[in-house]
Amino acid sequence: MDIIFDCPNCQQELAVDSSGAGTEIECPSCGETITIPKESTKPPPDVVSPTGQPVNPIAASAAAKIEKHLKVPVHDTPAESLIKKAPVPLEAVAKGADKKIRIHTIRHATCFESGHDKFDEKVTEFLNEIGEVNLIGVHTINYTFLDIASQKMLTDFGVVIVYRG
Ligand SMILES: [Zn+2]
Repeated sequence: MDIIFDCPNCQQELAVDSSGAGTEIECPSCGETITIPKESTKPPPDVVSPTGQPVNPIAASAAAKIEKHLKVPVHDTPAESLIKKAPVPLEAVAKGADKKIRIHTIRHATCFESGHDKFDEKVTEFLNEIGEVNLIGVHTINYTFLDIASQKMLTDFGVVIVYRG
């Protein structure tokens, strides 16, 4: 049920939900602060027949006037924020926080055990240890070192594994 009245300042016809009776609003037409009356000061807009045709010429003009109503929304409570941010689970924050980007260098020359080349095994073992989801990248390196046995500078290779852990 709407309360229909004229703005006392600009005479704009206004329709306000009856829940707003007695409260102050800003006139949507002139911006003046006005008090909504307890009851309509205008007749209810019951002037249109079921066919949509105006019942009589007087009603027709009344209907035309009703059309000019400005509907003023009344809010009992402050409008809620439309966008609510989903809270980030604390567990997820903690998981990300304790993981840092690290590197692990494996040199080919250090992978000999009892004369056997264990390079592939050691790299494979390390990759499985950190897990695929934590692997950021594997980079090859070349380096020179002094071979104790031959007392010569040798060039060898290795990998730098960048991972999260
Ligand atoms: Zn007004």
